[in-house]
Amino acid sequence: MSRAVVLGAGIAGLVAARQLERLGHHVTVLEANDSIAGLAATTKDADGFSFDLGAHFVTNRLAAAAGIGSEVRTVRYYGESVWLDGRYYTYPTGLLRSPAMVASAVAARLRRGTTGTAADWFRAVYGRALADRVALPLLEAWSGAPAEELAASVGDKIPSSLAQTVFLRAAAKVTGRAVAIGYCHALPQNAGVYHVYPNDGVATICRAVAAGLDGAVRTSTPVEAITVDGGRVAGVRANGEAIEADLVVSTAPVNRLPSLVDGSDALAPYERFRFRPMVFVNLKLRGTALLRDVVVWVPSGAPFFRLTEATQSMPWLAPEGSTSVLCDIGAEIGDAHWSMSDDDLAELCLEHLTAFVPDIRARYLGVHVARLPIAYPVFLKEYEADRQRLADGTGIDGLLSVGRNGEFDHILMEDVYWRTVRRIQRWDAGQPSRSASSSGARSRA
Ligand SMILES: Cc1cc2nc3c(=O)[nH]c(=O)nc-3n(C[C@H](O)[C@H](O)[C@H](O)COP(=O)(O)OP(=O)(O)OC[C@H]3O[C@@H](n4cnc5c(N)ncnc54)[C@H](O)[C@@H]3O)c2cc1C
Repeated sequence: MSRAVVLGAGIAGLVAARQLERLGHHVTVLEANDSIAGLAATTKDADGFSFDLGAHFVTNRLAAAAGIGSEVRTVRYYGESVWLDGRYYTYPTGLLRSPAMVASAVAARLRRGTTGTAADWFRAVYGRALADRVALPLLEAWSGAPAEELAASVGDKIPSSLAQTVFLRAAAKVTGRAVAIGYCHALPQNAGVYHVYPNDGVATICRAVAAGLDGAVRTSTPVEAITVDGGRVAGVRANGEAIEADLVVSTAPVNRLPSLVDGSDALAPYERFRFRPMVFVNLKLRGTALLRDVVVWVPSGAPFFRLTEATQSMPWLAPEGSTSVLCDIGAEIGDAHWSMSDDDLAELCLEHLTAFVPDIRARYLGVHVARLPIAYPVFLKEYEADRQRLADGTGIDGLLSVGRNGEFDHILMEDVYWRTVRRIQRWDAGQPSRSASSSGARSRA
């Protein structure tokens, strides 16, 4: 049996801890905040609106794995559009109604094979017109960096092939369920994997996993240092207390790990990895189904690059007869959007939303703003080789970096779940006392 310490009680840390316990190891989870769930937290306001940190869609497969398969509501519909030149185009098929986009996309298919920067990748796969007018402006607003400076690997984050997307959309129509497209890469997508929403919010998934951990989770306990001795983890220091450990699983942002590690410089290259902050402006509005689709991508002409009216999929997130529209604004900490008051942000968004909903001001009920300093990993080309190396491990014996920010990958909760389970299994399989720990797990079951 090994002694393991897990940093962070978001889904990654909790799943890592549960998997370690199942394999017979002793686990302590240390969470800096006074509550668990991390990015999967939901806020409910006094007017009866619920807000996730950015709209969250999860799958029935994740809910089942967490043990809350029967405590969820089925999401019946999900759809995306693009707003271009003052009109909606259904994503992805509607965009191909434009002859210029079709011609350039077909030409691109014939020329395919370009690697290099994200700009090259998108032009090769989507064609110049579609890339330059839609994909690249969105990518740049999302990342806060020019597409020429981003690695081609961001393309891996785009959902599968057009043919598969069209098939899964058709399956959604037939089954009356929002079939999940592009949400999970660790397991195959198919018509039986669809969106659900936990009755008590997304954090229920984390609470369900934590419930099985039997007091192993300590909140309000930030880890101040991870001690490394001779290239091997020796333990952590938290709230001034030293805790010995054979394994430390960190879910902290990987660019913070170098300053936490005491006794090794192996993680120094990750210090320069950048995350994109976001300002989420949730407008509370009278009425329902105000936008053409659940998600509307806005490549240009507005401070936001994406609008989400989650209540079209999940009406229970707002009181009856009301809705909310989330405006995603890419920012840098301290810039004009980051520093703007909530009322000014609402005003800015309303001004730009009148093109989409002409009477939006008459519908306005209030605003809920969230500023997230670490929202998306930025895949800069300059550190792409280091990013890829991280997938093989931290280079320190007994230190794993898992989860969305720990792996520095734009992954959603289901991928976080399965990838973390696999990482822990792989680590356990490499332990000399593997047979002892496995038999320990069996005897406890
Ligand atoms: C805008 C946005 C929209 C999203 N939409 C979806 C969606 O629709 N569907 C979906 O499935 N997923 C979505 N996600 C992704 C999902 O929220 C994350 O993948 C997931 O919650 C990440 O979990 P995690 O455990 O890896 O990290 P986190 O939730 O960030 O947990 C890490 C924890 O570690 C703690 N911590 C950090 N440093 C320390 C320290 N030194 N000591 C102790 N504790 C520490 C933090 O306080 C935190 O609680 C979205 C994410 C964003 C940002």
